[in-house]
Amino acid sequence: MKKQILLIVLFTCLLLSLQVIGKSGNQKSIKSLLYAETLTVVRFILPEGHPYKNIGLFSGINNKILLKFGDSVTVKDESLHGSITWYHCSLDNFSFYLPDVFVVKEPESIRYDENGNIQIGEEVVNMWTALPIHYKPDDLIRVGAKYLAESSKNRAIFLREKAASQFMLLIDAAEKDGINIRIVSAYRDPGYQSYLYEDAIKRKGFFQSTVAKPGHSEHHLGTTCDLTSDEISTGLTSDFEYTRAFQWLKDNIHYYGIYLSYPKYKTDITGYEYEPWHFRYWGNDRWESDRWFYRSFIRR
Ligand SMILES: [Zn+2]
Repeated sequence: MKKQILLIVLFTCLLLSLQVIGKSGNQKSIKSLLYAETLTVVRFILPEGHPYKNIGLFSGINNKILLKFGDSVTVKDESLHGSITWYHCSLDNFSFYLPDVFVVKEPESIRYDENGNIQIGEEVVNMWTALPIHYKPDDLIRVGAKYLAESSKNRAIFLREKAASQFMLLIDAAEKDGINIRIVSAYRDPGYQSYLYEDAIKRKGFFQSTVAKPGHSEHHLGTTCDLTSDEISTGLTSDFEYTRAFQWLKDNIHYYGIYLSYPKYKTDITGYEYEPWHFRYWGNDRWESDRWFYRSFIRR
């Protein structure tokens, strides 16, 4: 009997020691796993003033998560399900998942000038790379009503100083050639962009490709305009392509350092549908160095 007890004790000791070895092995792998987690800061892009509950696949104990525009969270990892990337996020003590349509990744490194502006032409903003969500150029000026479309005359429309003067020169030059061109919209802050974005998702679903995520819009730059003409009354539609105004723009915009951002046959490169009304001021240096490339870009 004593022998049996001794054997049981020995066996238990053996089991315990194996478990300790196993545990230390696990701990090591958990440690390295933690170490391997690249912690990326992302921001929710939900519209301001609309806190959302229980977004994503909630995995915490407390069932209340309130997210609002611009909240910053830590992403532990990401995984792909179908065509949607889900980010595993944590905020305070909560852990939860968010689909990529609701997430904006902050850019890694941005060069600002002494006024906190990004040099015109150096900004990288497209479907894949965002501007910092709280970025706002300090040289925005209000565009005079004379340059605005009828539907926008009662709104305050802003552009960065240099971009404003170039767009005004462009509109004045067109006027001299008997062509009417007017600005419909220009600078948009990311809060307003999130409202437009959410609206587009509601209407067209997650995979809509017409409205940019907040932070990903060229309108955030303060150097970009949507243009129209009194030749059409349909607002921002592809009909603009068939106006005399558009033909004039095609022939002249590059002299002002202005380019069409989302051309007809470049949707696979830009990720956006054709927008004959959307123009960005890049700075005249760009025109000098890439003259032929950009000329073909607009002409296609
Ligand atoms: Zn636009």
